[in-house]
Amino acid sequence: MNFAATVVTLYPEMFPGHLGQSLAGKALAEGVWSLQTIHLREFGLGRHRAVDETPAGGGAGMVLRPDCLAAAIDSANISPDVPRLLMSPRGKPLTQDYVRQLSLERGALIVCGRFEGVDERVIEARGLTEVSIGDYILSGGEPAALTLLDAIVRLLPGVMGNDESGAEESFETGLLEHPHYTKPADWDDRTVPAILKSGNHAAIEAWRREQSERLTAERRPDLLGKRE
Ligand code: SAH
Repeated sequence: MNFAATVVTLYPEMFPGHLGQSLAGKALAEGVWSLQTIHLREFGLGRHRAVDETPAGGGAGMVLRPDCLAAAIDSANISPDVPRLLMSPRGKPLTQDYVRQLSLERGALIVCGRFEGVDERVIEARGLTEVSIGDYILSGGEPAALTLLDAIVRLLPGVMGNDESGAEESFETGLLEHPHYTKPADWDDRTVPAILKSGNHAAIEAWRREQSERLTAERRPDLLGKRE
């Protein structure tokens, strides 16, 4: 079964963007996943097809209107069991666990915010789950949606050539990944660690594990606390 992504956006030309290239692009062409964009502008009002209004209560910027956004969402005709997400810095922080969970769904509806954000009532009325890609502010939800889809698509069956490389990735084990080396064995007065050339697979495994634990303790001690 393929993964059907539906994206509501004011900038449909931003899609598939980088997801049209490389492994994700190949998988898109092969139908492993599909991408439909819904142009929010088409649901705008008046001669200018306006979709935003000034904030109730005053203040800077503009807010996406609930009526236009709801009409765009409803036009997708998405089955009620498909997750409906709103990219938002206030949202649930995106983790590899959540990405993996989403990759098992039939698809996702993803709403991209713009301006100051969206009217709270449409979030409630359409049951949108807010998802954040990190503690910083983008100018729109589109790059966040592309990031989310990138992380999902690479987990779909058959997209990555070597399924094992996925299982050992940073976060999949609850640790950051060990350092990598390749040829040449000597470069710029630096050598590949001798153990990696020993042919002793158990020792190599133990060394990698040790490196992962050291890096995680140094850089992301918060991850160690979360491991089961
Ligand atoms: N005023 C809002 C930020 C709006 S940024 C606030 O302070 O919370 C405009 C849009 O960009 C948002 O509606 C959202 O869709 C998107 N966006 C910005 N930063 C994001 C992030 N870290 N993760 C996901 N989406 C983000």
